[in-house]
Amino acid sequence: MLDPISLRVSFAIVAVTLLALFYFVAYRSTRSAYAGWWCAALGLFLAGSAAYLLDGTSQQWWANPAGNVCVVAGAAAVWSGARAVEGRSVSWWFVGATLVGLLVASALDDPGTNEWSGAPVFLGLMTIFIALASVELWQSGRSGSFGPGPRERMYRPILRSLAVMSTGLSTFYGLRLVAFLMVGQDGRAFAVYLGTEVTTLVTTVMLATVSFSMTALSYADDTLELQARATSDGLTGLLNRDELVRLVERRWRGHRRRQVHGVLVMADLDHFKQINDTYGHPAGDVALQMFAAACRSTVGRADIVGRFGGEEFVLFLDEATVEEAHDVVRRITAALEATSLPGGVVLPTVSYGMTLVSRGDDLADVVARADGALYAAKDAGRARVVVADGATADRTTAP
Ligand code: GH3
Ligand code: MG
Ligand code: MG
Repeated sequence: MLDPISLRVSFAIVAVTLLALFYFVAYRSTRSAYAGWWCAALGLFLAGSAAYLLDGTSQQWWANPAGNVCVVAGAAAVWSGARAVEGRSVSWWFVGATLVGLLVASALDDPGTNEWSGAPVFLGLMTIFIALASVELWQSGRSGSFGPGPRERMYRPILRSLAVMSTGLSTFYGLRLVAFLMVGQDGRAFAVYLGTEVTTLVTTVMLATVSFSMTALSYADDTLELQARATSDGLTGLLNRDELVRLVERRWRGHRRRQVHGVLVMADLDHFKQINDTYGHPAGDVALQMFAAACRSTVGRADIVGRFGGEEFVLFLDEATVEEAHDVVRRITAALEATSLPGGVVLPTVSYGMTLVSRGDDLADVVARADGALYAAKDAGRARVVVADGATADRTTAP
């Protein structure tokens, strides 16, 4: 037979170890809200089990209700952490009121001699808070809040496993409540299957597995942040050159059977050096950001936009025709004309070279074609679009 004191001591040792590991390994690097809440939950479970160790001593009258409050506060912290994954918070009035209610119920239930003081309220609140956490976890990402992409892919399996664990735990507490109300703490079914010993074992395993999942979530956050930094351009927030090339090539591979893939556009700001020379480098930076914003707000979801280098940008317009690409350029020009810069800075005009991308095209060839068209646009007087093969040359501003 397992004895409850040894189990509680080993639970406390496991909780201290996990708290230290989780705090130093996972929380300190990300400082994410959910990791903070999990630290708080571990600390509160620990405090609760420490208080329960005073059961059977002269201190039990305060320690037993205090233990109840700590453990339920820990469950509320779990709920809060689950909501924090999507940046939501909980109502502290609700949590505070339930904790006061629990304290009163425990204090009025002979806590000096009754180790199960306030048990129905305690078990009910544990069931509710953990169930709320599991509802939150099952729903996370449903509203598309992570968007399609790497965050969704990395988060989903971890959040699902946490949802399964919390559903299991809230069911366990729900069963304890029902059994307690039906047969009381001395009933055989309750004592053997749902009593202190089994609960301590179950919660020890839960703490270890949840901490593992939370650490995985923190690592996912670290990885996502590094990924974002490694794939985007720091100034404009567009894709950087490597990522642009990678995504365009991947898209083409996906389109292997189509005859025409779309249009690749190269854009270069005209006489950009003069902006820097006239208004200063920071004004040049802002002009680049404005151009990037105009591109981003104009292209479709399937299109790919990146900074190719300096004041050169590449747009891959997926499945677009040359006419549609002209339209995109017109809309970018209109967006730029509607943009005003502080300090009387005048945005530069832009030259574009574009080319149709067909099956079997090689990215280097396509870029060389668009670049040739871009040079032709510069030679022809800038502020215009040239389509490779010289089919058309449209001015982008009124002459
Ligand atoms: P053209 O019309 O022929 O393209 O002339 P241009 O002046 O735009 O071209 P050039 O290649 O001579 O100059 C590009 C300038 O872009 C030079 C460089 O200092 C500036 N530049 C490149 N990257 C940045 C940046 O991140 N910020 C700022 N402010 N300027 C940049
Ligand atoms: Mg230029
Ligand atoms: Mg240039």
